[in-house]
Amino acid sequence: MQNSAKEKMIVEPASMVKVCAEAEVVVVGGGPGGIGAAVAAARSGAKTILVERYGHLGGMATGGLVILIPHMSDGSRHQQIGGICQEWLDRLNTLGGAVGPKPEDLGSSDKALVAHWRRYFSAVVDGTVRLSVYVDPELLKCALNDLVTEAGVKLYLHSWGCRAIVENGCAKGVIFESKSGRQAILGQVLIDATGDGDLFASAGVEFDGTLDRSLRSSQLALVFRLGNVDFDKFADFKVREPEKSSALLQELSQLAGFRMSPHPTPRNDVMWVNDWLIGYDVLNVEDLTQVELTARTAMLRVLPFLQKNVPGFENGFVLDTASQIGTRGSRRLMGEYIITGQDLRTGPTHPDTIAIFPSITHNTSPEHPHVHVPYRAILPRKIEGFLAAGRSFSSDPVANNTFNLIPHCVALGQAAGTAAALAVKNHVQPRQVNIVALQDCLRAQGVPLP
Ligand SMILES: Cc1cc2nc3c(=O)[nH]c(=O)nc-3n(C[C@H](O)[C@H](O)[C@H](O)COP(=O)(O)OP(=O)(O)OC[C@H]3O[C@@H](n4cnc5c(N)ncnc54)[C@H](O)[C@@H]3O)c2cc1C
Repeated sequence: MQNSAKEKMIVEPASMVKVCAEAEVVVVGGGPGGIGAAVAAARSGAKTILVERYGHLGGMATGGLVILIPHMSDGSRHQQIGGICQEWLDRLNTLGGAVGPKPEDLGSSDKALVAHWRRYFSAVVDGTVRLSVYVDPELLKCALNDLVTEAGVKLYLHSWGCRAIVENGCAKGVIFESKSGRQAILGQVLIDATGDGDLFASAGVEFDGTLDRSLRSSQLALVFRLGNVDFDKFADFKVREPEKSSALLQELSQLAGFRMSPHPTPRNDVMWVNDWLIGYDVLNVEDLTQVELTARTAMLRVLPFLQKNVPGFENGFVLDTASQIGTRGSRRLMGEYIITGQDLRTGPTHPDTIAIFPSITHNTSPEHPHVHVPYRAILPRKIEGFLAAGRSFSSDPVANNTFNLIPHCVALGQAAGTAAALAVKNHVQPRQVNIVALQDCLRAQGVPLP
């Protein structure tokens, strides 16, 4: 045991770790980024394993109860994000688990359509209809299980990736903990889709963990759903009495102690309540614990207020709270290219574009309605055999805050998985993947590219 003035440390004894499986591509983290990566890698012919710490897939989109899949189109008739994320929606539509504009409605400025979809936050931007969809998290969990297993991915659920195995500057797999103990999975390409960059941090890969406290990506959440509500009644009230409704929602946030706002779901009798807790560190377990306590206490405080004052909530009850704390931003890879807030305004194009993101906010400029994402933004410097997928993509706080959305993370994952499979097939490192071949494969999978 070592003591210092500040910290008491112990030495953990070295131990032998059993290799329980070997694959060509190992993806850690089963959220939007990880699902995109694992499905794309397996479909591209690589033997693929996906490791997820919880008992279900979907990350924030299911366990975090973040059930809005927004901004897949730019307000024109064209969709910029498709591919595997579109498959999520197709599967959910079949199950009755999604509500959003139809493909033929995209880009419409028809008054009735716009008035209808304006009730659904983010489905109307600048007067035209966009592809933004609300989903049922429980049906999504089922749809994602099917998507992943049908692609031939081997799943390890209830398995927490602890550290990347790195030899001579090259990733060789992952060590994970589960009820079976501490075990290892070996692979030729390791994809960190933990959202928090847990593996690249353990591998000594360069990252930036600084957060801009003024941005939503620094704010944590514990989302909850209310049942036995009437969304139509609430939405009508907002249209009929906008000032009163916004004053009430402000009061709701004051009572909570942090910003809180209700949103629709595919069911009229269920709404989800999003929240934004400021000042906590997403990588500090004591802060995470405090957010769980603070947010649940606030939820009980605001429920009677909603029932008493806000039309549509009279008979509402707490249906559930997110099993997974809401973390919007965390470690960001410092990769071969760093997407910046400046890029959103100037719109550079790249020879290695792997995804196109439609402009969303004031951060992007009208002259550059799309942001091109280069392959280099998921490729770390120095280390081989390694890619990042999802919200930890190489970016500054402004670019990350703008684009760490669910469809965008699926798209980044799809590119990472496809690149990993190509690297394996051609016996090269991800860094040496032929970019034109990668882009051709992505196009063939329905990914819109320039
Ligand atoms: C409250 C809130 C509201 C949001 N609102 C929206 C919105 O309306 N629309 C939108 O598109 N986006 C929204 N976002 C952002 C979006 O949800 C995330 O950026 C997106 O889910 C990121 O996907 P990801 O796969 O990178 O990470 P995550 O969704 O975080 O998934 C990471 C996965 O990895 C697993 N994991 C983590 N660490 C490990 C480990 N060490 N070992 C094994 N598994 C691990 C996790 O359990 C999880 O399944 C919101 C986020 C929050 C928190």
